Amino acid sequence: MASGPSVLMRLVASAYSIAQKAGVIVRRVIAEGDLGIVEKTCATDLQTKADRLVQMSICSSLARKFPRLTIIGEEDLPLGGVDQELIEDDQWEEILQKPCPAQYLAIKEEDLVVWVDPLDGTKEYTEGLLDNVTVLIGVAYEGEAIAGVINQPYYNYQGNCIHSPQNGAKQVFREHSKGAEAGPDAELGRTIWGVLGLGAFGFQLQEAPAGKHIVTTTRSHGSKLVSDCVSAMEPDAVLRVGGAGNKIIQLIEGKASAYVFASPGCKKWDTCAPEVILRAVGGKLTDVHGNALRYYKDVKHMNSAGVLAALRNYDYYASRVPESVKKALVP
Ligand code: AMP
Ligand code: MG
Ligand code: MG
Repeated sequence: MASGPSVLMRLVASAYSIAQKAGVIVRRVIAEGDLGIVEKTCATDLQTKADRLVQMSICSSLARKFPRLTIIGEEDLPLGGVDQELIEDDQWEEILQKPCPAQYLAIKEEDLVVWVDPLDGTKEYTEGLLDNVTVLIGVAYEGEAIAGVINQPYYNYQGNCIHSPQNGAKQVFREHSKGAEAGPDAELGRTIWGVLGLGAFGFQLQEAPAGKHIVTTTRSHGSKLVSDCVSAMEPDAVLRVGGAGNKIIQLIEGKASAYVFASPGCKKWDTCAPEVILRAVGGKLTDVHGNALRYYKDVKHMNSAGVLAALRNYDYYASRVPESVKKALVP
């Protein structure tokens, strides 16, 4: 019998190392102080030098190792001519040691679709809300999100430095310090990964306080529909933070009980990796109608019917979505 790790586990192991390099690039761009901001469709839809470099790094690194993959990245960039310095060739050994869930053992490279958000939370990145930022690499098979990697480049950063692009923040960032879990010696950045049927790793699972409805939602892409839907949840508290990846991390670490976004605007690369991490620990992510999101390579990119996600108690939130909101958001 053929041995060695499956294609899926090799892909996830590579995506882990590639996402770590992405985190280094995201920090380096801030440290160098020139974000190179470009408006895409409007003033809240931005692209920076980090979005561009990271997309090139992730897509080229993956394509080199897995030439038959379908890779769909957020940024519209010309192909080719990537600086060798951006290529990551390593794979995370710990992942190669884990067993591939039986249902994925026979998957072939050409059957997989990878959704890449090189930098999720770009608006917040440009405003110095650095811990809102994540790098997202999601893997789909037969339309379903089955594996994902999230790098959070500035996890622990408040213990490491006070963000100030002008004064050369690189001097106080620690790339490789080991030791304390928090505080000034804590390691900067982390990588969370997961595979359905295997679990999710790289964080401490925690549930939000029982009986409290803490809703997390957008801070920079709000609308009347978004607030109507949040209010209908009768929340005890509402958190407004950037990034789809960041909001899913809030759910798995007990800071929020539901992610509610009744608006189009969020795309497949925003939800693919986060959905896997959430589902791998028993949570659920759908559109506002309760429909599963599909990740086939030819699917439309926009999650037109919004996002509704929870680690526990999903049914409560789903039951509270107003009919008016459902009517306004066509899948
Ligand atoms: P947010 O919760 O606002 O950070 O949004 C989560 C993800 O969806 C981010 O990648 C946003 O850029 C994206 N997004 C949400 N709404 C919009 C919009 N109206 N225009 C562009 N991108 C959006
Ligand atoms: Mg995004
Ligand atoms: Mg992005």
